[in-house]
Amino acid sequence: MKPETAAIHALNLVKSATGDVSMPISLSTTFLRDEDGGYPGGHMYSRMSNPNRAALENVITALEFGADTCAFSSGNTAGMSIFQALKSGSHIIAPDDMYWGLKKQLLSIFNETLTFDFISLIDVDKIESFIKPNTVMIWAETPSNPLIKITDIEALAKICKAHKLILAVDSTFASPTLQNPITLGADIVMHSTTKYIGGHSDVLGGSLTTATKNEFWERVKNIQQNGGAVPSPFDCFLLLRSIKTLAYRMKGHCENAMKLAQYLEAHPKVEAVYYPGLPSHPQHDVAKKQMKDFGGMLSVLVKGDAATARKVVNTVKVFAQATSLGGVESLIEHRASVEGPDTKTPQNLIRVSVGLEHIDDLIADFEQALG
Ligand SMILES: *Cc1c(COP(=O)(O)O)cnc(C)c1O
Repeated sequence: MKPETAAIHALNLVKSATGDVSMPISLSTTFLRDEDGGYPGGHMYSRMSNPNRAALENVITALEFGADTCAFSSGNTAGMSIFQALKSGSHIIAPDDMYWGLKKQLLSIFNETLTFDFISLIDVDKIESFIKPNTVMIWAETPSNPLIKITDIEALAKICKAHKLILAVDSTFASPTLQNPITLGADIVMHSTTKYIGGHSDVLGGSLTTATKNEFWERVKNIQQNGGAVPSPFDCFLLLRSIKTLAYRMKGHCENAMKLAQYLEAHPKVEAVYYPGLPSHPQHDVAKKQMKDFGGMLSVLVKGDAATARKVVNTVKVFAQATSLGGVESLIEHRASVEGPDTKTPQNLIRVSVGLEHIDDLIADFEQALG
C-alpha cells in the first residue's frame, strides 16, 4: 500500500457489532477471558496492549516498512526506552546536533550507566575512529534540530553493519511519509508523534519501529509493557485520526517551507537559511537521495545578534512564538534562549515550523517583522 492508503487502512479495524467506520475509543483497562483462559479479543490488560494502541502501532509499522512498533506516552520516553534497553557500560555515538531534551536525558539520566560521544555524523569517514570495543549503537537524527543537518542514513547503515552496531534514527523532522530509515538500512526508527504525526499541537506521544523482531526489540517491548509509559486509548485515537491526513499535510508543509526558504534566502537582512530543499544546503544531494520532499522545518540566521533575532520573533503576528513543531499553525522561536546558557546554537538563529496557512500570509508576516 502507498502511504496515503496505508495511513487510512493499515490499522486493521476489527469489525464491530455496530459497524463503526471510524474506530471507537476502547477505554476498558481489562479484557474478558474465555473458558480456556485465553483472550479471544487478543488483549489482556491495557498496559500490555489495547485495541487503539494496537491500531496505531499497526499503521506506523506499515508507514515505516517495519516489523513491529511500540507506541509511548512521549517522544522522550521512546528514546529513553532504547537507552534503557542497552546493557550498562555500553558506549553510544550520538550526533553533535541533537534534540536537546534527549541529549539532556543522556547527560543527566544515563550518565552513570552509559558512555557517549556527541560527534558530527555528516563526515561519515570520520565516524569509525570513534567506535570503541563497547560501542553498541549509533543514534542519528535527520533532519537534525535545530541546524537542520542531513545525515546519510545509507552510509551510516553500512558502518553499523560492518561493526555490528544498532542504527537508531530519530526521524521526527521528516515524518514517515517523507523518509523511511528502515528501507535505507536502519534498525530502529523513532518519532515524537507529538509533532507531524499528531500534527495539531494537542497530543503528546512517541513511537519506535523495528526492522526485525530480534532480542534487542524484545528488551524494548518489555520496557514498553512493564515500564508502562504508554499512551492512553484517547491519545491513540487522536493520533490515528491525525495520521489519516499526514501525507497531505506534509505536502502542504513542504510546499510552504520551500517557498518561505527561498524568500528568506534572498532577503538582505538574512545571513543564512538552513533548509535541505535549497541547493545551497551543504547536504542537499543527500536529502534529495533519501527524502521524498524536504519537510516543514527551517532555521534562519538573521544578520545581527540575539536581540535582532528576538525582535523578529516578537514582531511576527501570524507565527506563534512557541516551541515544538509539526502542527498546522506556524511556530517560531529563538532557539538559543529555549536551550539555555550552555547552548551551542547560534544566538541569531530563529527556528521556524512552517504550518499550513497560506504562504502569502506567512511571507508578508516575515516581511513586516524583518522590516
Ligand atoms: C520533540 C522531539 C523529541 C521529543 O519528543 P516529546 O514528544 O516532546 O517527548 C525528540 N526528538 C525530536 C527531533 C523532537 O522534535
